[in-house]
Amino acid sequence: MKYAAVIFDLFGTLVDKFPLEEHRKILQQMASVVSAPPDDFTRLWFDTYEERGMGTFQSYEANIEYICQKLGVKTDNSHVKFAVKINREGGARLMKPRPHSTELLAYLKTENYKTGLISDCGVEIPKIFNNMPFALLIDMAIFSSLVGMQKPDLRIYQLAAERLEVKPEDRLYIGDGDSNELTSALEAGMQPVLVRNPAEDHNDVYRTYFEGDDWQGPAISSLREVRDLIE
Ligand SMILES: [Mg+2]
Repeated sequence: MKYAAVIFDLFGTLVDKFPLEEHRKILQQMASVVSAPPDDFTRLWFDTYEERGMGTFQSYEANIEYICQKLGVKTDNSHVKFAVKINREGGARLMKPRPHSTELLAYLKTENYKTGLISDCGVEIPKIFNNMPFALLIDMAIFSSLVGMQKPDLRIYQLAAERLEVKPEDRLYIGDGDSNELTSALEAGMQPVLVRNPAEDHNDVYRTYFEGDDWQGPAISSLREVRDLIE
């Protein structure tokens, strides 16, 4: 075996990125529940992306309360809770496995590879992730908000190596290129591969520190190609 473990990014890699237009609709529903101006609420939701990923907000309730406070909007607990429910249900609806994700992970397990996940995300995402068809095929999942660090922090890759008990050079990392994740995975000693999504509408996704357009390293256009890389 060329590698002992394959580690995946989540959004844009194992699941589709949330379509921005659909995501905005959910945020506007949340805003109306807490009586906040929809556009300001949406803007502040995206402005707090980093804090959400770092786990600064221990709950989405705290995130929403922070936004309402910033906007000078008075709201109560039950409305905030309802807004979180809308977010969770909307997230579950939008989180769709990418083609071949389950099939690939099942194959990797059959062939005795260790499998891992590193995702920059808020604290609600792990709950939705657990319902994905491939969730049980992943040996070790790291969610940034639960460990208080996010990509491209090299420590998050080191933590993955420790938890999987695999040397960095024996790990393949597959990601769609947000958060400079490929360059940082390389710096952490892993073998990074860009996965491109030809079907994705690039104007309808939210990206941060995207390096997919400039990436000179190995790249694939479908998860199905991962098998060719490891065999
Ligand atoms: Mg991604």
